[in-house]
Amino acid sequence: MKYVDEFRSGELAQGMARAIAAEAIRPAYRFMEFCGGHTHAIARYGLGELLPPQVRMIHGPGCPVCVLPIGRIDLAIRLAREHEVILCTYGDTLRVPASGGLSLLKAKAAGGDIRMVYSVADALRIAREQPQRQVVFLAIGFETTTPPTALAIFEAARLGLANFSVLCNHVLTPPAITHMLSTPENAAQVPLDGFVGPGHVSTVIGSRAYEPFASTFRKPVVIAGFEPLDVLQAILMLIRQVNTGRAEVENEYCRAVTRDGNRKAQALMAGVFELRDSFEWRGLGEMPLSALRIRAGFAGFDAEKRFALDYVAVPDHPACECGAILCGLKRPEECKLFGKVCSPENPVGACMVSSEGACAAQFSYGRHLRQEKT
Ligand code: SF4
Repeated sequence: MKYVDEFRSGELAQGMARAIAAEAIRPAYRFMEFCGGHTHAIARYGLGELLPPQVRMIHGPGCPVCVLPIGRIDLAIRLAREHEVILCTYGDTLRVPASGGLSLLKAKAAGGDIRMVYSVADALRIAREQPQRQVVFLAIGFETTTPPTALAIFEAARLGLANFSVLCNHVLTPPAITHMLSTPENAAQVPLDGFVGPGHVSTVIGSRAYEPFASTFRKPVVIAGFEPLDVLQAILMLIRQVNTGRAEVENEYCRAVTRDGNRKAQALMAGVFELRDSFEWRGLGEMPLSALRIRAGFAGFDAEKRFALDYVAVPDHPACECGAILCGLKRPEECKLFGKVCSPENPVGACMVSSEGACAAQFSYGRHLRQEKT
């Protein structure tokens, strides 16, 4: 297949659904789609409706906005309010609920100089245009968005920019999967038969990064693209692995992902970032070696150091089930606020903010359909 409409062919999807139904011979298959992009695709194209009842997809924690804990948004708001910086970030991040009923958007309405940007390059441009102001880029995301942040820091260093820094919240995919598989309570409560591996992340880190999950944990992984036929094909490949007792890393997204990934991007990241000892993820809690910080050699561009920020953990709204949803323990409809108090216009938790969030995807596309399979 070559063109995007072929990857969205209803006829081909029906054929693939029939193949899945024919080959799903076990009583239950539980696969986690790690990436929020896949969660979105499954909801948008109604793929859950095409699967037989014994095949259940479980949403994972791979939405960068969703896993950002409240305390990190609070840090950004403090930068804008107390240090009077120009705070730049992506649009979705502006709406994530923070402490005290605030969000970056509300802090902006109250006078904070908070700006939506499309990329870190925009923040760098603002810093060059306004040398009298401190400009901080609130960086979020997995390995996909990390190389551009690294490139911006290299560029700021080359230009000798003294008014640009990054509040780094970049997190890593493999440690999150390891955490889910190696934490006994999680593994017991959410038994998984395999993973649909993220597509964009894998273009950077390569399929090799998932090999320990197959070899050590005996979990099949199939890396998939984001079109509906990509996802269905990956599910079929996972079913075939389970049926034949295999646990391998397979690459459905071979038009974009290689085994080694993007070596240049990896070198960029390694040049600027190093592992944090620990980082709090919404829903998964503190996870060792699961996120990045800026190396000492680039400390001048590290907003946490420049502004001496101290992180304070803040609990989620008591009725919000984002934590359980991000661990695969609950589904969005099981939250009593879903679609009532909490909606994309009025998000109570982070999973209702981004279109990649499980709650937002279910609200936008899935709530009128029959309940997902259990
Ligand atoms: Fe949190 Fe809203 Fe999702 Fe409930 S519906 S889990 S409150 S984001």
